[in-house]
Amino acid sequence: MLLRIPRPDDLPPDGVARLPNRLWPFIWFFLKQARSAFIAIALLNGLAHVIDAMVPWFIGRIIDEINMGEPRTIWLRIGGMAAWVGFLYLILSPVLGRTAETIRAQTVPAFTNMIRRQLSMYLQGHSYEYFQSDFAGRLSGKAIETPAAIRNTANTLIGPFLMALVTFTVTFVLFSSTHWVFGAIALIWAGGYSLLLRTYIPRILDASKEASERASVIRGRSVDSLSNVLSVKLFARKSHEDAYLLESLSSMTCAAQRLMHTVNAKFIRLELGVIWIVAASFLASIMLWSKGMITIGEVATIIPLAVRLSQMSWWISEVFSTFYQDLGQVAEGMETITKRHQVTDRSGAQPIAVARGEIRYDNVTFAYGGTSVFEGLSVAIPPGQKVGLVGPSGAGKSTFVNLLLRLYDIQGGRILVDGQDIAVVTQDSLRAHIAVIPQSADLLHRSIRANIAYGRLDATDDEIIEAAKKANAHDFILKLEDSRGRKGYDAFVGERGVKLSGGQRQRIGVARAIVKDAPILILDEATSSLDSESEAAIQKALTPLMENRTVIAVAHRLSTIAHLDRLLVIEDGRIVEDGSHAELLARGGLYARLWAMQSGGFLGDEPGRVERAAE
Ligand code: ATP
Repeated sequence: MLLRIPRPDDLPPDGVARLPNRLWPFIWFFLKQARSAFIAIALLNGLAHVIDAMVPWFIGRIIDEINMGEPRTIWLRIGGMAAWVGFLYLILSPVLGRTAETIRAQTVPAFTNMIRRQLSMYLQGHSYEYFQSDFAGRLSGKAIETPAAIRNTANTLIGPFLMALVTFTVTFVLFSSTHWVFGAIALIWAGGYSLLLRTYIPRILDASKEASERASVIRGRSVDSLSNVLSVKLFARKSHEDAYLLESLSSMTCAAQRLMHTVNAKFIRLELGVIWIVAASFLASIMLWSKGMITIGEVATIIPLAVRLSQMSWWISEVFSTFYQDLGQVAEGMETITKRHQVTDRSGAQPIAVARGEIRYDNVTFAYGGTSVFEGLSVAIPPGQKVGLVGPSGAGKSTFVNLLLRLYDIQGGRILVDGQDIAVVTQDSLRAHIAVIPQSADLLHRSIRANIAYGRLDATDDEIIEAAKKANAHDFILKLEDSRGRKGYDAFVGERGVKLSGGQRQRIGVARAIVKDAPILILDEATSSLDSESEAAIQKALTPLMENRTVIAVAHRLSTIAHLDRLLVIEDGRIVEDGSHAELLARGGLYARLWAMQSGGFLGDEPGRVERAAE
C-alpha cells in the first residue's frame, strides 16, 4: 500500500451522510482514511522498539563471552556483535524512530482537521430542530474536541501501546527461550495485569464520560450566558448567571474528583500487581544459575528485562487512564454528533426546477412531537401571487413557512412547488429557490460584502452595490467603519450583526434577498421589530423585490400586508378565512375583528390610510 498522508479536505468514498454510532467503528471510520500513514508509522516504530527491547539480550551475550573466554581474544569474540549492537541501537533505531516521527508530524494535524471538517459537515446536516434543542457552544465544542480525542487515541495506539506490545512480546520470547520458568512467570504476570486493567477500565470509562459531559454543559452554559449578555445586564442577573454556572462547575468538580479517585485506586492495586515480576525473576534466575541451568549472561538479560517490563507497565497504566479518558470523550462526542439526521435528502433526490413559483399544500398533517399543528391543511398559491398570513399567536404561521422550506418533515400529505413534491428533491436546491427575510436578519461576523453575497456567492461587486441601493442600505454602508478601520462594504458587522441597528441589519437582509433573486420570497415578520421610519424604508425596499415573485408574508401588523393580493387567516392550524383585505373586512369575521383592534376602531378600512398613519 502506498504511503498517503491525509489532508484536511479528504472525504471517505461514501461521504459523511452516515456516521457509525458505536465507539470503535466510529474511530475506525476516521482511522481507516489515514491507514497507510498510520501503518507506516507503526511499522517503523515497531521495528525500533524491537531493537530497543533486544538490548538486554545483546548485553547478556556479551557478558557470557567476557565470562567464558580469554581476555586477549575478547574483541575477536565480541567485535562482530558489538558492531551489530552499535549499528542497530545507535544508527538504525534512531533513523527508524525519526522517520516515523516525520511522517507522524505530517499526518496527525491533517488527520485531526480532516475529522473536524467531516464532523462539522455531518453536524450541518442536522435538522433545524436539532440545533434548537442544544447549545451552539456545546455542539461546536464537541466538533472541535472529539477529533482531538480521536487523534490522541490514535497516537496512543501507535505510540505507547505498540511499544508495550513489542516490549512484552520480546520479553516473553526471551524469557521462554531462556527457561520455561521465566515463560510461566511472564504469562502469569500478563494475565494478572490484564485482569486488573479489565476491572478498572470500565469504571474509568464511565467516570470520564461523565466528567466530559459535565465539562461540555459548562461550555454550553457559559456560551449561552455570554451570547445573551444584554439580557443578563438588562435584568441585572450577574449573580444569577454566576450561580447557574457555579452549579455546573460544582457538578463537574465532583465528576472530575470521582474520575481521579478511580484512577488512583487502580494505581494502588497495580502497584502490588506489577512489582512482583522483578522479585520473582530475580529469585528464579539466581536459583537456576546456582544450579547451572542458565548462564550469568542470561541472568544479566532476565533481570533488566523484568525491571523494564515493570516500569513500562506503570507507565502504560497511566497511559491507559488518559487513553480511556480520551475514549470517554470520543464516546460522548459521538453520541451527541452522530444522532441520525432527521430531515434528509432521499437517495437519488434531484434538484428542484422552479420556473413559476406555484405553491400547493395538499392535505398536510404536521405535529411537533406530540403538539399537532396542521391536520389535512390544503391551500394553493398561484405563481406570482402575494399572500399575507394572518392569525393569532401560536396559530401556525411560522410553521407554515418552515414546512415550505422543509425545515421539518411533514407526517402526512404533500407540499408541491411547481408541481414537484418538496420531500423528494434536494433540500439545498429547494432553499436556493426561496429567499427568506426573517424578523431579524442573522448576520455573520464577516464583512458587509460577504453578508450580502451570502445570498449568492458569485454575485459581483456591482450586483452587491446595486442590491444595497435597492434595499436603501448603500448610504449607511458607505459610512460604516469597524474597530479595525475597515470601511464601507469591507467593514465587519460584529457577531450576529450587533454593531448595526435593527433597521440596518434588516436592510442588509433585504439586500441579501435581492442578490439571491429567488422566485419565491418569504417575509416572516420582516418589519415587526422596527420603528415606523425604518419600517417605511424597508417596505419601500421590499416593493420592487416582490415584483414577479410568489410572496408569503407573515405579519401581526396587518397594515403591512393588507395591500397584498390575498390574505390567509390561520387559527389553530386551520385556514379560517381566505380573500383580499376588502373581502375579509366585508365578511366581518376574525380578520375584520383583528383589523378593528389594530386600527383602534377608528382608522378606516383602506390599507393605504393605515400605512400613511404609520409613516
Ligand atoms: P407567532 O405569531 O407567535 O409567531 P405562529 O402563528 O407563527 O405564532 P408557530 O410558531 O407556527 O405559530 O407555532 C404553532 C404551534 O407550534 C404553537 O403551539 C407552538 O407552541 C408550537 N411550536 C412552534 N415551534 C415549535 C417547536 N420547535 N417545537 C414544539 N412546538 C413548537
